[in-house]
Amino acid sequence: MSDVLIVGAGPTGLWLALELRSAGLEVTVIEKNVTRDIRSRGAAMAAGSLETLATRGVDQRFIDAGKPIHSVHFGASSTRLQMSRDVLGTKHPHSLMISQAVTEQILADLCENNGIKFFYGHTAVGLAQDAHGVMLETESNGGAKSNFTAAYLVGCDGTRSTIRKLAGIDFPGTEATFSGWLADVLVTDPPPAPISTNNKSGSFLIQPLGYKDYYRVTGVHLKTRHLPTSVVPTLEDAKSFTIEATGKDFGMHSPLWVSRFSNATRLAENFRSGRVFVAGDASHQFFPAGGQGITTGLQDALNLAWKLTAVIQGRVTGANAENLLGSYSSERRCALQGILANTLAQTALFIRDGPPEIALAEVVYELLAHPDLNKMWVRRITGFDDRFPVEYEGQDPLVGKRVTHLEVQGGFEALHTAMAVDKFLLVVRDEKIEAVLRKCTEPWASHLKYFGQDDNINPFSPQWDGVNAILVRPDARVAWIWRVSSSPEQLESSVVKTLGKLCKET
Ligand SMILES: Cc1cc2nc3c(=O)[nH]c(=O)nc-3n(C[C@H](O)[C@H](O)[C@H](O)COP(=O)(O)OP(=O)(O)OC[C@H]3O[C@@H](n4cnc5c(N)ncnc54)[C@H](O)[C@@H]3O)c2cc1C
Repeated sequence: MSDVLIVGAGPTGLWLALELRSAGLEVTVIEKNVTRDIRSRGAAMAAGSLETLATRGVDQRFIDAGKPIHSVHFGASSTRLQMSRDVLGTKHPHSLMISQAVTEQILADLCENNGIKFFYGHTAVGLAQDAHGVMLETESNGGAKSNFTAAYLVGCDGTRSTIRKLAGIDFPGTEATFSGWLADVLVTDPPPAPISTNNKSGSFLIQPLGYKDYYRVTGVHLKTRHLPTSVVPTLEDAKSFTIEATGKDFGMHSPLWVSRFSNATRLAENFRSGRVFVAGDASHQFFPAGGQGITTGLQDALNLAWKLTAVIQGRVTGANAENLLGSYSSERRCALQGILANTLAQTALFIRDGPPEIALAEVVYELLAHPDLNKMWVRRITGFDDRFPVEYEGQDPLVGKRVTHLEVQGGFEALHTAMAVDKFLLVVRDEKIEAVLRKCTEPWASHLKYFGQDDNINPFSPQWDGVNAILVRPDARVAWIWRVSSSPEQLESSVVKTLGKLCKET
């Protein structure tokens, strides 16, 4: 019996497997395909994903295999959202163009090197659970049935998730109202920089694919937007849409992949049913605008992994375990509501076929040119500023936020190296409270890494003004904050209470 069964070896399932395995858990991955999907799909990997990969020390493999892009569109705006160290506060303040097939291959190689068991060619078809565990039934291509058991199961099996259906989790949302088109092509006349534009023919984008010399060309063509996704565009269609949008076709030829995709938008009503969870596209579906798909799946996996690890290792039990596992669904659903809203807003900008819509889009694009709004939105759509639920009155606004703009020992490396699925970080800037915090958190020492006065802590954003201690969760989010203005008598009790609930009961 495994600790965790993962159904689906896409980016979400593979990342979750790596996270859980890094804590020594027994992880088994079930995948229906026998060969890897070679489509480029999630080719724009957001900066938020690169930061996640960096916190586990595997970022460079991906950087080496892709092409960085330092700006991103919002609703095909020609005013691009600009990424920089100051704005994102991370080691890699850029997106990465990298074919999803390459991303998955790197992740699968890491999994296999880490002793994760894979069963390819097994399609999940049946599911049962009781108070002690989960049983999964699979069917091979030849019709042979197999059974797998585990303490917990996570369905990372994509939009049409069998696990979500078998677990009885509803997937409400809105049906497709239009489709976009996509072509991965070679070009003889490449643009000097990525182009995004929105005009009366529709929206249009072209940028390097990050795979050989291919370019990704994509958009929403207003006149053909009502075509169903089954009507795949031809190279000639892609050329003619491109000429309508930009006046030329960049000499495109030799398509690698052409596709049509819809704006259907859905969110699972719960990401958990007992011992069964859903993550990634199995729990949410949205228009692929701004490269948010993979980042969202990785964040789901990151959020769930440390919670499952704490419960499986018996550090958090009973009602605390229920709350911790339940918080996966409430936190990620809350974040996803924001992401669904921003992708829906972008789809409204793509479809500008009347004077009011054209005027509204112009207003939005003008606002995005304002430096503060540009910064705010680039943080949102690169995965650094997710919504987070307010669980109690007076909750600090930084609780749940991803930790950025914080260097120690001269850079990001020391913090990244210290982060792990079963480790919290305690960063203390005030020597007066450092000794007290070190003493009262001693029972958690094996799950805590301290950074204090000797570590040259450098917060470089006003968000950290007045903050003199931060407890960071294993998913690089703020668990607890101590401000200059906090009442001193609660220092020990509040940090101890947080660690007792999230890390280990004493
Ligand atoms: C046209 C297009 C363009 C996109 N562009 C971007 C982009 O630029 N950037 C970005 O970040 N995202 C993009 N996305 C979204 C991105 O591809 C997805 O968000 C991502 O693939 C989600 O990963 P996942 O692991 O959750 O699911 P998937 O990648 O769908 O993986 C699910 C896995 O589960 C397996 N599976 C399914 N059913 C079963 C079963 N019953 N039993 C066993 N195995 C099963 C599948 O074979 C598959 O391997 C795009 C998507 C599309 C369609």
